[in-house]
Amino acid sequence: MASYRKEQPILKLFVAGTLMGSMAIGCASKSGTSEYPVAPKVTDTVGSVPEEIQSGTTTIESQQETIGETALGNPIKMVTLSQKPGLKETLMIVGGIHPGEKTGWLSQDKSQTGWLTMVKQWFMDNPQQWKDLNVAMVDINPDGKGRQNPNKVDLARNFACTSCNWTKTDPNTRDYADADGPEPLSEPESQTLINAVNISGPNIRLLVFLHNVFQPSGLVDPGHCDGSADKSCLAAQEIARLSGAKYSKIWSYRGNGAQYPEGLAGQPADYFSERGYPTVDIEFPIANPSKKQTSLFCKAIVSSLNQ
Ligand SMILES: [Zn+2]
Repeated sequence: MASYRKEQPILKLFVAGTLMGSMAIGCASKSGTSEYPVAPKVTDTVGSVPEEIQSGTTTIESQQETIGETALGNPIKMVTLSQKPGLKETLMIVGGIHPGEKTGWLSQDKSQTGWLTMVKQWFMDNPQQWKDLNVAMVDINPDGKGRQNPNKVDLARNFACTSCNWTKTDPNTRDYADADGPEPLSEPESQTLINAVNISGPNIRLLVFLHNVFQPSGLVDPGHCDGSADKSCLAAQEIARLSGAKYSKIWSYRGNGAQYPEGLAGQPADYFSERGYPTVDIEFPIANPSKKQTSLFCKAIVSSLNQ
């Protein structure tokens, strides 16, 4: 499909002291303690040669970057689709955080196409619907199993911030809603997720995490938002309205009156929302990747950004 290749690969170096360090300081100062998070390690980001792919009359540039490593040392790859050179506005979609939910590039046992591959295909097939966006997609936990990474940590409970309610828990007795990991951001996949967001930084218009299952019509759950920090709530409400999914706040603080009255601790959606990125979790209504559901939610996501 590729009709053209540029000559040289691109190497970007991200320095912990400036990118990661500033996030660590931000979290520590907001929480009023210096106990966390640990500073993520330096990650070299290696970009592939971009490919130009024709979709009808539209030329789409696709670039794959290795943005970090799993706990087993395998590469974590992000693919960015773009139609306009120099455009920075970015929609970021993160799949695979719970590998058993098949929202990465492939299913957990690699025998099936995952939701994220179908999402990418939808964007390839419908370029007219996202002309003014770059679309960055990453499968953040390709070596994990069930809800965990190879270190048996739930990455969706491994983040610490003011609203994340991270406290150390015993892995043998920990509950579904409890924080996970020996310390906040303990996992290389968690650090890579921060790296992924740092790459586009303030140009991210929306950050989406893919999950399932929430029957019958799916769920859109915003990252923590209230008062002036309402971007995530507004984005989630609009995507829910356009897709027909349920809108619900499942925030990670006590007494929120949501489905989990104790709240869900350590959520990356809260972490990034707190840093000003409009962030939503989308729960598909079915387990197996479906072209119809992919189309429904992708349309809702881009329509919410085009308004
Ligand atoms: Zn999940």
